[in-house]
Amino acid sequence: MKTQLERASRDKGTDWQALRKDFPILDQKVHGHPLVYLDNAATSQKPRVVLEALNRYYETDNANVHRGIHELSNRSTVSFEAARARTAHFLGADSSEIVFTRGTTESINLVAQAWGAKNIRAGDTILLTEMEHHSNIVPWQLLAERVGAKIRWLPVTGDEGLLDLDRLDEFLTRDVKLFSFTHISNMLGTVNPAAELCERASKLGVVTLLDAAQSAGHCPLDVREIGCDFLAFSGHKICGPTGIGVLFGRQSLLEQTPPWQGGGEMILNVGFDKTTYKQPPHRFEAGTPDISGAIVLQVALDYLDAIGRRAIFEHDQELASYAHEKLAALGGIRLFGPKKGRAPAEGGRAGIVSFLLNDVHAHDVVTFADQRGIALRGGHHCNQPLHKKLGIESSARASFYFYNTKAEVDRLIEVIRETQKFFGGARR
Ligand code: PMP
Repeated sequence: MKTQLERASRDKGTDWQALRKDFPILDQKVHGHPLVYLDNAATSQKPRVVLEALNRYYETDNANVHRGIHELSNRSTVSFEAARARTAHFLGADSSEIVFTRGTTESINLVAQAWGAKNIRAGDTILLTEMEHHSNIVPWQLLAERVGAKIRWLPVTGDEGLLDLDRLDEFLTRDVKLFSFTHISNMLGTVNPAAELCERASKLGVVTLLDAAQSAGHCPLDVREIGCDFLAFSGHKICGPTGIGVLFGRQSLLEQTPPWQGGGEMILNVGFDKTTYKQPPHRFEAGTPDISGAIVLQVALDYLDAIGRRAIFEHDQELASYAHEKLAALGGIRLFGPKKGRAPAEGGRAGIVSFLLNDVHAHDVVTFADQRGIALRGGHHCNQPLHKKLGIESSARASFYFYNTKAEVDRLIEVIRETQKFFGGARR
């Protein structure tokens, strides 16, 4: 039987509505209303092909990798390494540059603890931006405390949520050892001009890390075109399972990086007195990895690429622009993030819209929406410093993926209007 995706991609242009049928979870009622899932920046839903592949792996091939001589172990190892090659292709990288981790958070911690601890010293500067997720803040704070390094923050312009690039020269200086920044902000939806920033950094010999948690699977992503040295993303945000993540590291950098965790699989030879380590990427994968996660991630990547990442980006952006416009027209609302959606390389906004209603707490907005079947996110979205800078404690967030529709945005607007009426905070 053909999947909805196969049927849809036969046609010219994608039938987004048809793709919804690939996601069994979307077909349900929540509190008596059809589910409208708008919390994709937290995690995405999984298509049936991914769910089936997970089952199939455990039903037919399950065994540990790189260890056994028996058939099942060989099959698992071949599939696991094929998943690495597929992930490399997804990013325009080489297989030896792909390390499987638990997610974006673990990938960034790996770089901080292994590469960072070796290369960043007392007095050095780590450059971050004011729009980073806690995952791209706390690992660097831990490292900075340990080695005596400084952290500087490239400013965000305010509610419009752009990096203040006019001030880049002031922050991106020769004493910076690493510039780690998000490709797409998970609160503002801002798409940062990653290639331009990496080029400016590499001219000064500054190593770059791109947090691609919100951009992988949402827009085209090629590490050579962008020119980053490290890149991190999570499988669960792009139709894959939880527990699998990816770190890309430029080969020359991974080769100079010592192991960060010790255990089985990452060694060449262990003695009572001395141990030697494998080459990257295996040097960074101690113990049994998330085998099924990696194998199934490959299925998710195939699924996304069959739709097309540019088409996904344009669809997400169209929904977000529509939502932004309709929310602004309601009045009595503060909207965050860029007004315009532009191509990924030019900056602008992706499929994320955060907002605050006058006099209504974000948690009330999200609870009210939940009662009507709409899944939003409310809180600081792991962007506490950014919220503080904007003078707020929390915000409500709608985040879109390719299976969302304009009709769902209309439903969101209707419910926000009801929320305003209910809490009496609307401009009448
Ligand atoms: N960075 C960004 C920009 C994110 O949006 C997230 C997830 N919200 C992360 C990092 C962390 O991802 P994970 O929890 O999957 O490690």
